[in-house]
This record gives sequence, C-alpha cells and structure tokens, in this order.
Amino acid sequence: MKIIFLGAPGAGKGTQSDIVSETYGIPAISTGAIIREAIAEGTEMGLAARRYTEAGELVPDAVVIGIIKERLSKEDCKNGFILDGFPRTTVQAQALDDMGVEIDLVISIEVSDQDIVKRMSGRRVCAACGASYHTVYKPSKAGEYCEKCGNELSIRKDDKPEIVLERLSVYHALTEPLKDYYKNKGKCVEVIGQEVLADTTALVREQLVKAFGR
Ligand code: ADP
Ligand code: ZN
Repeated sequence: MKIIFLGAPGAGKGTQSDIVSETYGIPAISTGAIIREAIAEGTEMGLAARRYTEAGELVPDAVVIGIIKERLSKEDCKNGFILDGFPRTTVQAQALDDMGVEIDLVISIEVSDQDIVKRMSGRRVCAACGASYHTVYKPSKAGEYCEKCGNELSIRKDDKPEIVLERLSVYHALTEPLKDYYKNKGKCVEVIGQEVLADTTALVREQLVKAFGR
C-alpha cells in the first residue's frame, strides 16, 4: 500500500493520513513534520530549511528528496506507507519514480482557496509532538493544550494569512500539476474535502476500499 495525499495546504492531508496510518498499520510520512522537527532541533538541515518555510516557499527539491530517500529505506516502510506533503513538484515526483517506488493510489483532497484561508486561521499545533488541531473542526480535548502530551498549543508561523496566500499560489503553480501527472498513470482520484472531518474520512475510506479491497 503506497499512498500519496495531495491537496492545498490545510486541505486536511495530515489529518487523513494519520487516520489511514492507524487503520492499516503503515507509517504516515509528512515532509512538513520532518522539516519542522529539524527546525525545532536546530539541525543543519533545519537551519537551512527555516527561511523557506517561514516565507511560505518550498524547501529545495534536493533537500526533501534526500529526506524521503532516507525515510523510505527504513524497515517500517516495507509493507507500504502514506506520503503527506511529498511530492510537491514534478521534480520530486520524478525522483520517486527514479527510486523505483511504485505508487498505488494518489488521493487529492479538494478544498477551495476561500475555505482554506478560513480554515487556516483556526489551525493550532503542538510544537512538542507535532499533533495538529483546529479550534472548530478538530479541537483538542485539553483545550489550549495538546491532548497527547500536554504542551501548550501554538499557531504555526507559516499559518499567518499573508503567508497562507503565498503557499496557496505555490500550490497552484507547482503542486497541482501533479494531479495530471498521476492521472496520466491512472492513479489519481479526487475527494471533495468536507466541512466535517469524519465525512472526508468516509470518502477517503471508500477510495481505499475500491483500490485495495480492504
Ligand atoms: P501544509 O500541507 O499545511 O502546507 P506542510 O506541513 O506539509 O504544510 O509543509 C510546511 C512547509 O514545509 C511547506 O510550506 C514547505 O516550505 C515545506 N515542505 C514540506 N514538504 C515539502 C516538499 N515536499 N517540498 C518542498 N518543501 C516542502
Ligand atoms: Zn503534543
């Protein structure tokens, strides 16, 4: 089971991929989360990546391709994996192909730009464990604190409105063309992102059952 989630920033890729990960017992790999972790730890890669993420721009292809190569070589990926936030450019998709990785299914979560901007204003994250919440759609059971680890929740620097607009324009210019890239391979399906998270999960589930028979 090798699955990719595509979609605009804030479309709900991360949330859905975590759910699919639990359902099927395969790892959910988020390049965004790996990069944020590196920034928090102050590693060399994190230091180099920071100015891109904070400006809403993409981290250079070579860096993220390196991250993914290393991650996919780990033992837990042998029965499959879910990619959330990778590939984001045609060069990255090509790199996956060149690694000999055969993707089974690409699910593109469709949400309008207008709704994305609305949603992002409510997103809250835990800087300690990486968990992600939404004040309205996915509130933490611990209120202002992370229900998993108890850390105080915060707003991601790149969720500021002007940065969100930049990320949306980067998405349309560089990432959206990947829908056609995978449609041409007969691998891409679209799911309309629903207001209620569980409704999107049900639509995603339908596509997975159709593709994998379970
Ligand atoms: P979202 O899906 O909400 O945009 P992510 O957590 O996936 O957020 O990514 C946050 C930031 O990390 C991106 O705006 C970008 O700067 C960087 N990033 C993540 N994945 C990639 C990638 N595959 N290629 C380039 N940059 C990436
Ligand atoms: Zn936490």
